[in-house]
Amino acid sequence: MEKLLEGAEGAPAEGPASEGTDFISEFIREDLKNGRFSHVHTRFPPEPNGWLHIGHCKAFIIDFSMAERFGGKCNLRFDDTNPEKEDISYVEAIKWDVKWMGYDWEDREYYASDYYEYLYGLAVKIIKKGHAYVDDLSEEETSEYRGTAVADKNNITITPPGKNSPYRDRSVEENLDLFARMRAGEFPDSAKTLRAKIDMAHPNLLMRDPVMYRIRRDYHYRTRNDWCIYPMYDFQHPLSDAKEGITHSLCSLEYEIHRPLYEWFINEAEVFPSRQIEFARLNITHTVLSKRWLLRLVQEKYVSGWDDPRMPTIAGLRRRGYTAAAIRSFISQVGIAKTDSMVDIAFLEYCLREDLNKTSLRVMAVLKPLKLIIENWEQGKVEEIEAVNNPEDESAGKRKIPFSGELWIEQDDFMEVPPPKYFRLYPGNAVRLRYAYVVTCTGLDKDAAGNITAVRCTYDAETRGGNAGASGAFDNRKVKGTIHWVSAAHAVPMEVRIYDKLFSVERPMDVPARRPDGTPGSFLDNLNPNSLETIPLAYGEPSLANAAGGARYQFERLGYFVKDSENSADAAGRGSPPDTAAEGKPVFNKTVGLRDTWAKIAKK
Ligand code: ATP
Ligand code: MG
Repeated sequence: MEKLLEGAEGAPAEGPASEGTDFISEFIREDLKNGRFSHVHTRFPPEPNGWLHIGHCKAFIIDFSMAERFGGKCNLRFDDTNPEKEDISYVEAIKWDVKWMGYDWEDREYYASDYYEYLYGLAVKIIKKGHAYVDDLSEEETSEYRGTAVADKNNITITPPGKNSPYRDRSVEENLDLFARMRAGEFPDSAKTLRAKIDMAHPNLLMRDPVMYRIRRDYHYRTRNDWCIYPMYDFQHPLSDAKEGITHSLCSLEYEIHRPLYEWFINEAEVFPSRQIEFARLNITHTVLSKRWLLRLVQEKYVSGWDDPRMPTIAGLRRRGYTAAAIRSFISQVGIAKTDSMVDIAFLEYCLREDLNKTSLRVMAVLKPLKLIIENWEQGKVEEIEAVNNPEDESAGKRKIPFSGELWIEQDDFMEVPPPKYFRLYPGNAVRLRYAYVVTCTGLDKDAAGNITAVRCTYDAETRGGNAGASGAFDNRKVKGTIHWVSAAHAVPMEVRIYDKLFSVERPMDVPARRPDGTPGSFLDNLNPNSLETIPLAYGEPSLANAAGGARYQFERLGYFVKDSENSADAAGRGSPPDTAAEGKPVFNKTVGLRDTWAKIAKK
């Protein structure tokens, strides 16, 4: 496995992976040394209520890499105890994405919903100890009794004690009876809860008699209608970890405050003592990394689906043209830290460009076509021009591109009246057509409205195939500009989609409580209205006709592009439908531009 997980947040990693200089590796090493654990077993526990985003990716890379680093195992466990939001289509999408990222849980695929009977048994055990009780308070009353954090006179947050529920001192027998009847469906939804009996004056509000079970008659995608009581996350999670013998339960920082409760349940249930360790969440500028908000974008149709190429989901990044290697490299260089921070999206794009530069085939395509007519070209003649597939990788070889008397060039590469230092085509000027001949502009055609409809030129037959490299070192006739082209008769018509940042501000969740008109502010106000530009008719060289979905290219001078691929992750047909443009034209998504904006930011 490549270098992973060294270094501090935001700074490039250093040192070989085997060293494991991050704080989680340190903790694990200590645990092994002092005998707290004899081996390492981690798990990645997604809730199947949405598709994975790049933040989850950080989490499972840490889970899998720690297991690998210490010769241990990593489980994939679906934390599926919230029936109303979960679905099998999410399970399928999650598995697909973890695999695509290059990780394998082998046969260790588990479901918290398979543990319902086990969890029920442990709840009964805790009741028998007198440490859990059935409560009749309503949801509102429960939170009212719990109390809230307030600011004291020095503006320091304090948590005045809550108050005990009048049902708190029910006898063990009564609690056992009521809990059994909750399970049997004798009470309506929400009429009762099972609560841990801890301390209603605890400074940590989560420790104030947290709810362990609630009554919900919701259909569960796996257990169907077998259960009408469902365990809460804080009760279920530590005990599921324990059931699987998880030694190190790695999770993001927001669970730190839950840790005392995690340990309380493990102690009370007297199960395997899994250890929870928290790390900083991944945050990236100009996007949101939370399923709740991503779901809203999908449901309210601000994007075409979970795999919309603007989404920070793994499926979205894949469809945008990201490689798994680029994402892994990014996560590795961001590293593991104990405090949350924000990573610039330009750094993610930098990691992507680094990878694509090495691996993607170069082709020529014209996004804003303008006809170029070579007046001294023999009518009907077609020549084959040789082009390099990837200057970074000799083994990628060469290909032949047809060249003829009528070509498409970019509108931007011609100007009737050029500004100073414009080295492309204009009347009287000569440029090289990439891999082919030097042409000199002789004139142009216009329609009645004055629009340029074609540019005319003559070619110099002695200059064929001149500049092999961008430097023009092997040039047989020096000209200042080189432009790309596609033979009109052989061009592949295609649709191209150009993407920009999904949100126009760095921190989309920073919104004022109220808009100027008094209505509540929303992160949706920060959406970039121009995040998608569709070019309905562009032209590519013939080799693009047979591009497979997901094939990545560098369109010379324009950027990296990927042939759009249909969403293959959603077995249940939940996500977006296959995306093929009208008229059967292939669709190419712009992945990222050629220019490195990260270098500039890093300098700052
Ligand atoms: P979200 O906030 O997106 O809904 P979640 O934490 O509720 O995420 P889970 O399916 O419970 O979603 O997450 C699975 C694991 O991924 C958890 O262990 C969680 O700690 C981790 N995780 C989620 N988001 C991030 C993130 N942005 N950075 C790092 N880890 C994350
Ligand atoms: Mg969660």
